[in-house]
Amino acid sequence: MTAHQNFIAGAWIPAAQGATFERRNPADQSDRIGVFPASAAEDAARAVTAVEAGRQEWATAGAEARMRVLERAADIIEERAGDLAVELTREEGKTIASATTEWRRSAANLRLYAGEAVRTRGETFPVDGSLVHTRREPVGVVLAITPWNFPISIPSRKISPALAVGNGVIFKPSEVAPLTGQRFVEILLEAGVPAGAIALLQGRGADLGEALVTSPEVKAITFTGSYPTGCLIHRLAGPDKRLQLEMGGKNPCIVLGDADPVRAGEIIARGAFALTGQACTATSRAIVVGDLYDEVVGEVVKQAAAVRLGNGLDPDVTMGPLATKTQHEKVLGMVDIGKGEGLTLAFDGDDTGGGEPGGFFVGPKVFVDVPDDSLLAQEEIFGPVVCLQRAESYEAAVETANSVEYGLAASIVTKDFARALDFAKDIEAGIVKVNSATGGVALSAPFGGIKHSSNQTYKEQAGHGVMDFYTTVKTVYLAS
Ligand code: ADP
Repeated sequence: MTAHQNFIAGAWIPAAQGATFERRNPADQSDRIGVFPASAAEDAARAVTAVEAGRQEWATAGAEARMRVLERAADIIEERAGDLAVELTREEGKTIASATTEWRRSAANLRLYAGEAVRTRGETFPVDGSLVHTRREPVGVVLAITPWNFPISIPSRKISPALAVGNGVIFKPSEVAPLTGQRFVEILLEAGVPAGAIALLQGRGADLGEALVTSPEVKAITFTGSYPTGCLIHRLAGPDKRLQLEMGGKNPCIVLGDADPVRAGEIIARGAFALTGQACTATSRAIVVGDLYDEVVGEVVKQAAAVRLGNGLDPDVTMGPLATKTQHEKVLGMVDIGKGEGLTLAFDGDDTGGGEPGGFFVGPKVFVDVPDDSLLAQEEIFGPVVCLQRAESYEAAVETANSVEYGLAASIVTKDFARALDFAKDIEAGIVKVNSATGGVALSAPFGGIKHSSNQTYKEQAGHGVMDFYTTVKTVYLAS
């Protein structure tokens, strides 16, 4: 089995202490992906020093040169998307179709931000007697800490803009998807990012996170992960660093009485079961107003029954396993809690995954008549589990939807556009969808939550605004 390494100061090297961890396929524990360095504080310090020392070549390369490098990286991904997707499916578990889409999306991210390299600019201001203008400069060393559920599209939407404007990058992928992270760095280097401008550090966040986050040379931290980890990073980082923290969700879909129940059921099921429910924008609660409830439940159950659970490499499989043993135990534990609370399961999908050996499979689960105060209605589950709830009115549905700590995505199914616009105003969420699933967002539209879902400083993917996070603005007064 291949032993993989960190990339620091232009060289592929093991962790200083030689420690390693292994990753296996969550659909088939006999399929070993590789062994990776279990980095610690010493490795983090080396990476920070290396990128701080090495980033100048990239910063001074010129915007057009950086644009061409990022475009070349996108070309490489497109050429190899098939092989890259197979590795991603083996490593993380998602279906081969989702893995292919994700790599292609990452190529698109690279192209989007390649363009921003040459579009990022300052402004001039009409001031008598002076030429007053702003210049944008790279912040310096950017730290990207990323999760496993989108192990390439999330890193690519953070690292591409960071590089586009000439920052150095330290990339700490999730320990659950280390190979995908490594492939991204290999491709960036092959495309022409100078070796000194990027470091890859594999390992568990708990072992090296503090050393990275507290390092004075790290000027900006872009993080996607859980709320507790985000809180920890916020506390450790201190006042001098830029922070972009995107965290969990407990996303609702409200169905109004004028909706087509079949369409509503499809939208709920797509939001709940896509990516095995492991998206921070997944639909976790569906709140149905009026008399449609039974019909909507029937449609969600029909969709759940149509899911084909198994190894994502099989092209007929529509839902892969959960990514880790911990997630598997957590999700099944929450299902047990729901059952223990006396909740009714309208559909309890088979958990065997078509007989795959040792896979972390959980079939789709549809809980009905879930009260607001149930644990399942309040806590993020991150699995293919959806809770259906009844509401007397639009107002009651919104109150239920807003009763959780998170505020990432929310959707409504209705033909009444006036109501839909009320919803956009009334709902506590950073992403509002009308007549489409909570999950699935545009490439270039601002992304980010409110409440516990985000620290709400800088949106991701925010068009020109995205460079606010990755650049420092200086105001220059020029008098003759
Ligand atoms: P998840 O449960 O989705 O894995 P985490 O918040 O645990 O969410 O992980 C998201 C990312 O944060 C991963 O790359 C992980 O290694 C990293 N991480 C975990 N703990 C820490 C920490 N204490 N400091 C910095 N990064 C961390």
